[in-house]
Amino acid sequence: MLLLKLREVVLEANLELVQRGLVLSTFGNTSGVARDEGLIVIKPSGVPYEEMKPEHLVVTDLRGKIVEGTLRPSSDLPTHAALYRAFPAIGGVAHTHSEYATAWAQARKPIPCFGTTHADYFRGPIPLTNAMSDEEINGEYEANTGAAIISAFEKIDPMAVPAVLVANHGPFAWGTDPAKASENAWMLEAAARIAYFTVNINPHAGSIGKTLHDRHFLRKHGERAYYGQARTKG
Ligand SMILES: [Zn+2]
Repeated sequence: MLLLKLREVVLEANLELVQRGLVLSTFGNTSGVARDEGLIVIKPSGVPYEEMKPEHLVVTDLRGKIVEGTLRPSSDLPTHAALYRAFPAIGGVAHTHSEYATAWAQARKPIPCFGTTHADYFRGPIPLTNAMSDEEINGEYEANTGAAIISAFEKIDPMAVPAVLVANHGPFAWGTDPAKASENAWMLEAAARIAYFTVNINPHAGSIGKTLHDRHFLRKHGERAYYGQARTKG
């Protein structure tokens, strides 16, 4: 069986989405990529989480062609694959319909960065994709969803803002590995929930200032990060 370790990691990251309350019904999927092999490991479609085992996961190439697996992959696979091709630094993608982030996606509003909870994980507002045309929806819908996400990041570094709202649909998040993608999906939901409360308390609330935003983001990310315990490089 190919990529056993990555299968286990992707399975665990999928279960984390459920444990964190981000998955409504079966609306959730996490994948991971093995860059050296050029292969994606993704959740199968329609297998109950409690029954899911590493061998149920599906291995495909970066075009979404099945390389190993007897079950059908998650129908969102072409979106995941598009993101892996466009964003070479990412190692995992997570998609949910978590409620607050989905509410912002349905309201078609980017999530402003109101405070440090958001700024710790996302360096700027969470962008919103453009609505898709009828042709895009009737055509290769999932691949076109990926294209809509990629065009929302023309001027944004996907590693600085590792999440997006797909208009009238819901969030996608990503990270350097599947666990990080799942964690970012969780933090996105927290930021979406707190932002919702913020605008209810004060509809005129302003975004966090740049200095405080950068201080929080950069103490966790990048060359001069100092938050948490020292990490061993390697
Ligand atoms: Zn979805």
